Amino acid sequence: MAKLFSTNNLLDIQHLKSELDLLDIDILKDYIDFLINEELAFYVNSIEEYKMFPKLNLEWEYPAIVSNMIIDIDKDSNHNLESIIKCCENINCRHIQIRFFNETLFSDLQILLKTINESNVICVELFIPAHAKLCNKDLISLIKKNKKISNILLYNYCKDMVLFNQGEYGTGTILCTRQNLNTELLCGNFHFNYFVVNIDFFSESQKYNTCLNRKICIDKKGFIKNCPSMRENFGKFTEVNLKLAIENPQFIKYWHINKDNINKCCDCEFRYICIDCRAYTENIEDIHSAPLKCGYNPYTLSWSNWSDAQG
Ligand code: SF4
Repeated sequence: MAKLFSTNNLLDIQHLKSELDLLDIDILKDYIDFLINEELAFYVNSIEEYKMFPKLNLEWEYPAIVSNMIIDIDKDSNHNLESIIKCCENINCRHIQIRFFNETLFSDLQILLKTINESNVICVELFIPAHAKLCNKDLISLIKKNKKISNILLYNYCKDMVLFNQGEYGTGTILCTRQNLNTELLCGNFHFNYFVVNIDFFSESQKYNTCLNRKICIDKKGFIKNCPSMRENFGKFTEVNLKLAIENPQFIKYWHINKDNINKCCDCEFRYICIDCRAYTENIEDIHSAPLKCGYNPYTLSWSNWSDAQG
């Protein structure tokens, strides 16, 4: 059936029927009913109508060497955030996620936001642990005053809730979770809620890795990495120029591993909407090994069984 559509996404039913015997026509009808019911296909009445649905252009490009950066900070970190953010400007990286694993003071957040507001960074997401010295009122005032904050995730909170929602363009929210996210080791979990369904992600996933492409990270010890959870590092931020780190072929080798190159994922129906993980894989010796924390098996499980199991 896939082959029937592979040439131009158009199935000429009348022509096809004329080439099939009665039994095959019944099978074909079942296939077509399935595609129509699942909204995977639709009828057109003429070639003119079909031409009104041109093929999507799935070329993906991004106007910077790096699209996003993760910075991890714990109580022993010795990061010079001002210097890191300055380097972001040099590589034209405009989106940053900063994950605090330690109790952060409001005054430190204010200093950080001042630096970000004066930089070319356009968007910052903050992961902050809830603690007694950080009050909700201050966080709400912080997010109201600093439009560059896309979201704040307040973890280790007493309940799961939306604390604040500015309601503008889907950003400016403070989300609270009971989960304790005070370590990079929690990365790489898979859940159907994490699927990303938009044309930008879908296009990027055709050729590139859906987690690591154009990403750079500074881990809590100051090492430059593809992902803070990965063991491989490319030197300390204080000693290695970020641009040189990115030019290292070993650094960018992960960018081009798309789901079609990954064991198991290559046969999964979710491969173009699913975020990858190269930090935790089934076989650490194999760069194309399947993500370790994904419980879905495209060969034996159905989508509905998996979603039921995940709750
Ligand atoms: S098998 Fe791969 S593509 Fe499919 S859900 Fe799991 S990680 Fe995602």
